[in-house]
Amino acid sequence: SIMPATLSAISNGARHGILFKGGIHLENLGNLQAIALDKTGTLTKGKPEVTDVIIREDLNEEDFLFHIASVENYSNHPLATSIVRYAKTKLHRDIIKPVNMEDISGNGVQAYINGVLWQVGKADFVGRSEAERFQNGIALRLAEQGKTIVYAKDDHGIAGILTLKDIVRDETVAAIEALRNEGIHTVMLTGDGEKTAKAIASESHIDAYIAECLPETKVTEVKKLKEHFGTVAMVGDGINDAPALATASVGIAMGEGTDVALETADVVLMKNDLPRIAEAVKLSKKMNRIIK
Ligand code: ADP
Ligand code: MG
Repeated sequence: SIMPATLSAISNGARHGILFKGGIHLENLGNLQAIALDKTGTLTKGKPEVTDVIIREDLNEEDFLFHIASVENYSNHPLATSIVRYAKTKLHRDIIKPVNMEDISGNGVQAYINGVLWQVGKADFVGRSEAERFQNGIALRLAEQGKTIVYAKDDHGIAGILTLKDIVRDETVAAIEALRNEGIHTVMLTGDGEKTAKAIASESHIDAYIAECLPETKVTEVKKLKEHFGTVAMVGDGINDAPALATASVGIAMGEGTDVALETADVVLMKNDLPRIAEAVKLSKKMNRIIK
């Protein structure tokens, strides 16, 4: 049976925008030793803007954007949404429906347009060595500014790159420092590249980061944190975060996250309000003292 102190803490949480799917999750938060947080949509706003477009010499920008947007139109990844929105402001023709479209979680998308395979995504997805031969000096400098590099490839090799900049949420730094004050180790997990991850981690004041994570890597990292620290939470918003949310001692979803994340999580931050996590930890510590 649920303790009156737990019940009152849960309803207090709900009034303040944090939803617990059971008393045990609130209790666990009081014992939290480490927390893993996804980057895109969790530490950042998840609404990246296209900042730079660099294309191969034989292509023109309109043609390039037409192909990329046609492929990305069938993905619901935040990068895809932003790329399509940007392309539509530049194009004088409608994007088309490609064939055999595939959305490969944590990697990118691919489809055929007029018989040509177009791949759009991270360096490893299009082929790292080829990607790194394309304007590498410029790409590295843009990544160091915290921008995400998206590579596009056609049947002649790398067709170009697009970079997108996502904004760290206003509350992120305060939320991370409040967790640190509770003695909790913070780690960012992201599928993004090393340089981009490092820049966003530093902007967020987070203790540690792991870049180039596939959804399975996020699970492995949460398991490692549990072995090392004990009670571990994971915060995320995407389909790609769901397995890690399920693996953590406490899975926390951003309220505006995908349905799969919301269903898998034990706790939901209804207004995406990251500082609520440290507040809930404090509340839980107080509650656990009353119960014991
Ligand atoms: P994160 O963990 O930062 O939320 P994901 O795991 O969803 O990121 O994706 C990892 C990387 O794969 C992205 O940084 C991006 O480079 C690439 N990627 C994934 N999906 C897409 C897409 N639809 N279009 C372009 N790139 C993508
Ligand atoms: Mg995300």
